[in-house]
Amino acid sequence: MVADYVARKFHVNGIVQGVGFRPFVYQLAKQYGLKGEVANTAAGVSIHIEGPSSKINSFENDISENSPPLAHIVEITSQDEPPKHFAHFNIVSSHGADQMSTLISPDVSICHDCLKELFDPDDRRFGYPFINCTNCGPRYTIIDDIPYDRPKTSMRRFKMCEHCQAEYDDPANRRFHAQPNACTDCGPHVILCDNKQKQVEIGDPIEEAARLIRQGHIIAIKGLGGFHLAVDAQNSDAVVRLRRRKLREEKPFALMSYDCEQVENYAVVGPEERKLLTSIQRPIVLLRKKTPHSIAEEVAPRNKYFGVMLAYTPLHYMLLSHGFSVLVMTSGNISEEPIAIDNSDAFERLAHIADYFLIHNRDIFLRSDDSIVRYAAEATRFIRRSRGYVPVPVFLKDELPPILALGAELKNTICITKGNTAFLSQHVGDLENLSTYEFFRLTIDHLARILEVAPQLFAYDLHPDYLSTRFAEEQQDIAKVRVQHHHAHIVSCMAEHKLDGKVIGLSFDGTGYGTDDTIWGGEILIVTAADFERAGHLAYVPMPGSTAAIKEPWRMAISYLYHAFGDSLWDLDLPILRQIEASKLKIVVEMIQQGVNCPHTSSLGRLFDGVAAIVGIRNRVNFEGQAAMELEMLAADGIDTIYDFDWLSGDPIQFLSAPIVCGVVQDVQSGLSIAQISIKFHKTLLALFTEICVSIRQDRDLNRVVLSGGCFQNSILLNGMIHELTSRDFEVFAHQRVPTNDGGISLGQAVVAAAKIG
Ligand code: ZN
Ligand code: ZN
Ligand code: FE
Repeated sequence: MVADYVARKFHVNGIVQGVGFRPFVYQLAKQYGLKGEVANTAAGVSIHIEGPSSKINSFENDISENSPPLAHIVEITSQDEPPKHFAHFNIVSSHGADQMSTLISPDVSICHDCLKELFDPDDRRFGYPFINCTNCGPRYTIIDDIPYDRPKTSMRRFKMCEHCQAEYDDPANRRFHAQPNACTDCGPHVILCDNKQKQVEIGDPIEEAARLIRQGHIIAIKGLGGFHLAVDAQNSDAVVRLRRRKLREEKPFALMSYDCEQVENYAVVGPEERKLLTSIQRPIVLLRKKTPHSIAEEVAPRNKYFGVMLAYTPLHYMLLSHGFSVLVMTSGNISEEPIAIDNSDAFERLAHIADYFLIHNRDIFLRSDDSIVRYAAEATRFIRRSRGYVPVPVFLKDELPPILALGAELKNTICITKGNTAFLSQHVGDLENLSTYEFFRLTIDHLARILEVAPQLFAYDLHPDYLSTRFAEEQQDIAKVRVQHHHAHIVSCMAEHKLDGKVIGLSFDGTGYGTDDTIWGGEILIVTAADFERAGHLAYVPMPGSTAAIKEPWRMAISYLYHAFGDSLWDLDLPILRQIEASKLKIVVEMIQQGVNCPHTSSLGRLFDGVAAIVGIRNRVNFEGQAAMELEMLAADGIDTIYDFDWLSGDPIQFLSAPIVCGVVQDVQSGLSIAQISIKFHKTLLALFTEICVSIRQDRDLNRVVLSGGCFQNSILLNGMIHELTSRDFEVFAHQRVPTNDGGISLGQAVVAAAKIG
């Protein structure tokens, strides 16, 4: 026996099952000539390895450095063991569900190897649109239970042919235990139908779909997490028709291209954006438009950005290879409903939108929208975290009891905690209609089942009328904790950064139910996980017509103007006073004076809306936040003058809209451009909030500032606050793992609830 012959045992935790981890370990052991075995366990993977210690050290290093693309290692522990003198290195098969980890990989894009085979005429999967391997393809959207094995996926109806089975069984093969493994002989297939469900008899349905798109038709395409609606992005008529049929007036459409080189024809791709575009998650990335470009103007009207993703399924690549440089690929739904996932549902709901349907017979069990990200303030920022990222958990500082947090009303996600991990669901949507509510319930059941968690505690919003509140209150025999919306925002960001103790939280958004039954949204809070104090807020103004004021920012404009000028508002020379009928203006002023249907709000989002209407950007919006977004988009660069601002000290501090609104009105009347007014407005807010933070630091000795809430999707505000505060030696924290908008709320709710019950 060689003197230096040792044995070591490794436990690897994380997403290490169903991602080719055991074959990777097997190859590695062979490469180093080491003996032993590898097996799946309840927590991940265990490895017993024997051989010369230097080789074992290199082996250990390679495990963490070179693991397969879909693996996500959380922790590796090791201990020395007495050698057992194995003759070989073996993959030990796992036995039964009790041996399986519940960490499941997200769905990811086709890998380089599979892409090469897809376009290789000599490969047996040449042109097969469902090619995949252990390094790529569908996961989360095709399982309905654990363990992640073929019988628990929508691939169970396809029996592997001899060829595929041999690959599946061979540890040296890239398709060893690739659950969705398939080929033309044994796997799913694509067909093309018209919108009456009649199959178009044609040799190559993908080629035919490409031809129809080029003719200007709208095609519904079944993808990974749901249906898309596709049109030629350079055909303005087709884009307009799609908008009209989908009832989507102005919200930008996402684009899809084959590779970064094609994207560079119409958008600016920096090195960080390139990394995001080509990452295996393949999110939609917000990219600055190039001028000139050949994309139809109606794709993203009045927006500086395009939302762009690269092809991510083999089917996308095949479709785009028919000479398209860019397609519109927008979610297959009507307006705000959940996207369609199964064929019959798609025909039912999309037949009046799409002219043709490119469908297949691999079922999608769980809907997952495209994720949306941008690179801002030197980090990736999520706008929507869904396909490609879910269900990778957020790792927490502490162990939590099993909690189900029900999220917010808009952009809903739910969150389930398990030990020191928090699992946020995919994007559920706006909980305002029955179909989204059904999807919400389905997502709760699904996530709890695949995580094997029985929640002991529910966390939900303070708002009495939310569907999620009603859902929570219908449940019997379970502890419940209600969490204030803006508190949850800040704690969500704290949880991401593993922050303890007290922080200053800037919680800025459109709407959240306050503890005084008003509508909050411009909140400066002193926050711990368990509690918060309201240190300051935007002074209240009435919201004439309540939610009507969200859809019609001119109402907010009148409210701020009346607040600032009183009855002399009628003497102002503003476009809005000419554009809106006099009778309507009068009614709104009377509502404000008499307090009829005028809930009070401290929302910063509404101030953005109001100012956008005062400067003449728009009086009505087609989607939440549109006016505020356009105000940001129009801002000029390089201006450092600001408006007068003022705040009232006290408990809480109140910061005032009136001086800012007066400054804006003066500039509008003197003919200053919207671009200049916009940047002055943004910079005024930066100065105001910075001054308040400095004052709070003096009083309370707090130096950490946490930024959260939908307003921080505004990159002038996000970049500016980070810059202003760090230059005054604050430690500043903003979201990087979950969205800053209400899509990240459920994480905060869970952590607050855990802290409250101790
Ligand atoms: Zn692959
Ligand atoms: Zn096969
Ligand atoms: Fe919010």
